[in-house]
Amino acid sequence: ESLNKIIDIKGSIRVFCRVRPFLVIDRRRIREPISASSEKIAVKTAGTRKEFDFDKVFPQETSQENVFAEVEPILRSALDGHNVCIFAHGQTGTGKTFTMDGTSEEPGIIPRALKELFCQASLDSSSSISFSMSMLEVYMGNLRDLLSPKPANRTYETVTRCNLNIQTDPKGTVEIEGLTEVQIVDFAKARWWYNRGRRVRSTSWTNVNEASSRSHCLTRITIFRNGDALEAKREVGKLWMVDLGGSERLLKTGATGLTLDEGRAINLSLSALGDVIAALRRKRGHVPYRNSKLTQILKDSLGHGSKVLMLVHVSPCEEDVGETICSLSFAKRAR
Ligand code: ADP
Ligand code: MG
Repeated sequence: ESLNKIIDIKGSIRVFCRVRPFLVIDRRRIREPISASSEKIAVKTAGTRKEFDFDKVFPQETSQENVFAEVEPILRSALDGHNVCIFAHGQTGTGKTFTMDGTSEEPGIIPRALKELFCQASLDSSSSISFSMSMLEVYMGNLRDLLSPKPANRTYETVTRCNLNIQTDPKGTVEIEGLTEVQIVDFAKARWWYNRGRRVRSTSWTNVNEASSRSHCLTRITIFRNGDALEAKREVGKLWMVDLGGSERLLKTGATGLTLDEGRAINLSLSALGDVIAALRRKRGHVPYRNSKLTQILKDSLGHGSKVLMLVHVSPCEEDVGETICSLSFAKRAR
């Protein structure tokens, strides 16, 4: 509730920052460059110290449950009829997928959100609420249906041939032509579809970690309300939960060939997203939605009346400080 109040006062874009804990594979720690408090994060690098303010900062030890507690009010906005976008942004390996998907022991935002939506819906006695779900991946400007019943539509060899079309109807609602939309009647069914989509996403890559980090994964929950008996099912809101492609700059990885193109595609769409959010932030002037597939898909969920939550992820490691500053600067622009 307090978050919703803040959103109304301060605008509809919130930016949170999460610091990944040290992992066993991280190189031996010499210094810890990051210090995080509840709304501030400071990065120390070669004699300088840069400080960034966010609506919320989650230090390393923050649990999935505590992260979700801060995200949960925005779900209620979706049930109240707002379109909502939740983004996980950051360098590859900083915990975007951990935050959005999580693990079976420590579920992330998406499974928790699904559970919460059904819980809220069951508490609402004034109308009957129902949900549908779609999942898609955007890879080098191509859209791939992750819930398609036709296996051919799910593999990368054919994705360019069955690329989905994005249309906008006269009311401004975005339609993705041919995208599978499944009715989800309860949490168990929702989780089943969601896991299926995730499996489709990961199994079609030959080198999972490399390639899947070059694509955006979007999960969409559409919310319907049945007002009175005469009224047909009415779409009231959309909730997008987006695991963005890795934001790392390419020079460091020394990528060539396809990977370079993949990286360019990701960089282009991330900067297009940054441009759109910055334009919305200024509240006037042209909003450049057309510059990427990602922003075209989300056009009706990023603008007026929508709520946006950007979760920027950073590494705690010294060797990642350059990328960390880039990610934090990106996020600061949105704020
Ligand atoms: P990304 O999706 O940004 O590339 P991942 O979510 O795959 O990053 O995280 C990289 C690794 O770090 C994974 O092994 C993940 O389990 C681990 N990890 C990330 N964030 C956390 C966290 N908050 N707590 C525990 N482990 C984490
Ligand atoms: Mg990931």
